[in-house]
Amino acid sequence: MKEDTTMSLDGQVAVVTGAASGIGFAIAEEFVSAGAKVVIADIAKDRAEEAATCISHAGGTAVGIQVDVADRAKVEALFHETEATLGPVDILVNNAGISIDRGVRRISDEEWQRTIAINQTGVFLCSQAAAISMVARRTGRIINIASRAWLGWFGQLAYSSSKGAVVSATRSLAIELAKYGITVNCLAPGLIDTPLLQAEPPEVMERLLQAQPMGTLGDPRDVAWAARFFAEPMCRSITGQVLYVCGGKSLYAQPA
Ligand code: NAD
Repeated sequence: MKEDTTMSLDGQVAVVTGAASGIGFAIAEEFVSAGAKVVIADIAKDRAEEAATCISHAGGTAVGIQVDVADRAKVEALFHETEATLGPVDILVNNAGISIDRGVRRISDEEWQRTIAINQTGVFLCSQAAAISMVARRTGRIINIASRAWLGWFGQLAYSSSKGAVVSATRSLAIELAKYGITVNCLAPGLIDTPLLQAEPPEVMERLLQAQPMGTLGDPRDVAWAARFFAEPMCRSITGQVLYVCGGKSLYAQPA
C-alpha cells in the first residue's frame, strides 16, 4: 500500500509551554488547525484558559493547564493531567521563556537564576517528563524554542547563555532519543513581534529594526509554521537541527 504522505497532525496530542501568548499561542493555533489536540501550558492560569477557549471556538481541541516549567512537581502534574484528559503526549514544544537581562554589571543573582530556571531547567524538566512516555511508545517529537541570541547578544548574558544551553540540550537529546524514533529539533527565532519584545525601549527597537535584513519584525506565525514542519510525521529523519527563523539575520556576523 502506498504510504500516506499528507501533511497532518490529526489526533496527535501536543503540549506547548508558554502558549498563552506570542509565539507559543501561534504554535498552538497552527497545531490545532492541523488536527492536533493541544494543551496550552502556561504560568498564567487565566490567560492559558482564555487562549484555549479562543482556539477551541475557532474549531478543534485546546485546553489550558497552569504550569511553572521550572517546578518539577508542577511539570509532572501537567503531564499526568494531559495524559488523563487527552492521552499520551506525542509532541512537546518547549517554548516558555523570559528575557530580563540588564547587562553583566547590573543583573542580579535572582534574575540570572530565574532566567536559567525557566529557559534552561524548564526544557530539561519538560523533556524528561515527555521522553519517559515517548520512549515507552517509541515515537515522539520535541521542539525547543531557542533564539538567535544563543550566538551572543549585547547585554543579554543570562538569556543568551540559557538559549545556548537549549541548543546543546537539543543535540544531546537528539542523540540519546534517536533509537526510539523520537526527533528533537530547535528553532532559533530572530526578532518576533510579541509581548516579550514590547518591553524594549523605542530607541532600542529602532536600532534593532534598522539591523534587520528584511527591515521588519517576524510574525509569530512564521515560527509556528517552522514548528509544524518539525512536528509532522513525515519529518522523521531530521533531528538535532537548529533552524533559524530570523529573516536572514543569522547570515551576518554582528550579534544584534
Ligand atoms: P511572550 O512573553 O509573549 O510569551 C511567553 C509566555 O511564557 C508567556 O505567556 C508567559 O506567561 C509564559 N511563561 C513565562 N514563564 C513561565 C513559566 N515559568 N512556566 C510556564 N510559562 C511561562 O514571549 P514570546 O516572544 O512569545 O517568546 C516565546 C519563546 O520564544 C521564548 O522562549 C523566547 O525566548 C523565544 N524567542 C522570542 C523571540 C522574540 O523576538 N519574541 C525571539 C527569539 C526567541
